[in-house]
Amino acid sequence: MAQDADVERWVKGVCRFCGTGCGVYVGVKGGRAVAIKGNPDAKTNFGFLCVKGMLAYKVMEHPDRLKHPLVRQADGNFKRVSWDEALDLVTSKFTTLRNKYGKDSVAYYGSGQALTEETYTFNKLWKGGLRSNMVEGNPRLCMASAVGGYMTTMGSDEPAGSYADIENAKCLFIVGSNTSEAHPILFRRIMRHKLNHPEVKIIICEPRKTNTAKIADLWLPVDPGTDLAVFHSMAREIIRNNWVDRQFIEENTRVTDGKEVYDFDKYAAHVEQFDPETVEKVARCPAANIRKAAEWFANSGATLSLWCMGLNQRTRGVWANNLIHNLHLITGQIGFAGADSFSLTGQPNACGGVRETGALSHLLPGTKPVADPKWRAHCEKQWGLPEGTIDPKPGFHTVKMFESLGGENDADKPIKAALICTTNPAHSLPNLNKYIPGMRDSFLVVLDIFPSRTTQLADVILPAAFIYEKGGVYGCSERRSQLTEKCVEPPGEAKADIWIAAQIAKRMGLEKVIPWNMDDSMKANEMAWHDYISVTKDTDHTMWGVTYERLKKSKAGLQWPCPTEDHPGTYKRYVRGMDPMFEHQGFLEMFGKKIPKDRKIVFYMDGRNEGKANIFLRPYKGAEEQPDADYPFFFTTGRVIEQWHTGTMTMRVPEIARAHPNGYVEIHPEDAQKYKISSGDIVEVESRRGRCEFPAVITSASLPGILFVPMHDQKYERLVNFICNDAVDPGSFEPEYKVAAVRIKRLSGP
Ligand code: SF4
Repeated sequence: MAQDADVERWVKGVCRFCGTGCGVYVGVKGGRAVAIKGNPDAKTNFGFLCVKGMLAYKVMEHPDRLKHPLVRQADGNFKRVSWDEALDLVTSKFTTLRNKYGKDSVAYYGSGQALTEETYTFNKLWKGGLRSNMVEGNPRLCMASAVGGYMTTMGSDEPAGSYADIENAKCLFIVGSNTSEAHPILFRRIMRHKLNHPEVKIIICEPRKTNTAKIADLWLPVDPGTDLAVFHSMAREIIRNNWVDRQFIEENTRVTDGKEVYDFDKYAAHVEQFDPETVEKVARCPAANIRKAAEWFANSGATLSLWCMGLNQRTRGVWANNLIHNLHLITGQIGFAGADSFSLTGQPNACGGVRETGALSHLLPGTKPVADPKWRAHCEKQWGLPEGTIDPKPGFHTVKMFESLGGENDADKPIKAALICTTNPAHSLPNLNKYIPGMRDSFLVVLDIFPSRTTQLADVILPAAFIYEKGGVYGCSERRSQLTEKCVEPPGEAKADIWIAAQIAKRMGLEKVIPWNMDDSMKANEMAWHDYISVTKDTDHTMWGVTYERLKKSKAGLQWPCPTEDHPGTYKRYVRGMDPMFEHQGFLEMFGKKIPKDRKIVFYMDGRNEGKANIFLRPYKGAEEQPDADYPFFFTTGRVIEQWHTGTMTMRVPEIARAHPNGYVEIHPEDAQKYKISSGDIVEVESRRGRCEFPAVITSASLPGILFVPMHDQKYERLVNFICNDAVDPGSFEPEYKVAAVRIKRLSGP
């Protein structure tokens, strides 16, 4: 790594990869980014970085970078064109299709990796300018169930607490999260806390003994998709042993099934059916472990739950989120230091960029529903648009959007064109075989920094700038917005997304909607940011105090709610005795002052149900697809520390690409013996949707009958998404990536 002497200046920024939001300094020399180091003042990582963050600068000068606009020719090859030619083609085609097939025939598909200003701009352009809610983003594929869980239980999206709860927790309940590999710096904080306080209990609920599960005091192994039964069973044990916080329940919660409101006894009766012995038969989780987990969870003094894709990417992801919240609500384990129900985010700006700016088909900025007439009127007023501009009807969720994408000859496909920004759906959508023809046949415009499986299907490719080549804001899992300053110029003719958005707006006569049409990306970003925080003023999601000026000066960013320019940001929401929007208590606590012992909390429920959080009566339901005689194995996927998502960036950094260059399938020794498979054999894994070929790794990390594959491979024959299920949660419309039924066959030996 470059030393201070090797760089001319260090520029403050944020890591480009996971949702932890580690603060970095980018080392610049001779107009090039030559190093990255951790920001010691960052409240997320305190100067530490994982291998991906440290080496991110190597992505920037890779020879594969897209440097010029490209347009597909009649012979199928791409031709370099000028920006004017590319943008004129894009906007004339968009206009023609909209005129012919209606305003919703052209979709925008964004990403939790784009900057907040960029996502806000495209969202405003589509919903306010083009009057279409055909706006989606890849956070639908990873976080939508967490949004659904927070919205239905608390009435407001995103966690109440902060990462600082890790160091205050006395029990950590980690579910469906291989934190050690997906959020390595948060895992470092967890490990350090455990080393300093060996009495802290760590419970991991996970089908596979991951590297994270190896530090657990208690592992709850479960069959994929069965953990809802375990959570219900823990609730049953908590109630039976009277480990509940009655006063908290009475003052702060109500029991509901989403239709009626009941008393707490109804909930107690509901969970009674989930006795640990019965659940052991359903989930293969030992009853004794369930009992112990319930005891530790309820009686620790401060329990923090952390979860991620293992819980969210499910057909009952919202319910699973509700059930974790239930455990916190019935025990009062929320609203004080170390106690929270905290969903981790996978992408660096899924929270800040997409959830908070409302860049999904049913939302508007501030995570408010597009169907809400008051909020539409508010946005129209803020945006200077005539009343009735914003369509009250939500657009299509991601899976439906790609199902509906097709060519002009496809009568049953109403979406004829899409602008895809900073993501790779031709690799990352589940049940890929189903969606590739629509992307191929429609008019596809792809904005990215590298060629990908999606650019292969594009009609127009627009070369984009990397975060350190344009600057802007990312908002991480703990409601913290942090600014990256522009460090260097983008290569070739690559441009910031915000410039591209403004150019499209200008060509479509919508310059007034997006007036930040300028070459200086930081200035354009600042205008967009101010426009955005103005919309959130005086709301429960207020960012009004998070000005660009403050973000430039701050070394650690700011956490919303932040209502005024002198507000320090909010460490913990919902503390009683203070307006949850204006509370400073938790923030002060970080500096040694204590929250009063009477730490009861009030939930800000948007006036919907007397300020009480919902304890949900949810039935049990397993995964959509269960193993059977034809497809006898559970199939699940996960991450490795060195790789990230579809690998378009990490696979181009040699040091980390070679650490985990390809996928493999983990098979339990009992299953391997039955199928005569040895480590290194090539094995076909096949679901009802598609097949892949992986080298086998024989391990007892999971229970017999469960196969695991890391998801990052780029080789066609090893794209796990050919296998994965695209069935969606009916509440969040997030697909069930995490559970499928498959069969296996040995193809060849090493
Ligand atoms: Fe980047 Fe995440 Fe690693 Fe931090 S933990 S350096 S945010 S990839």
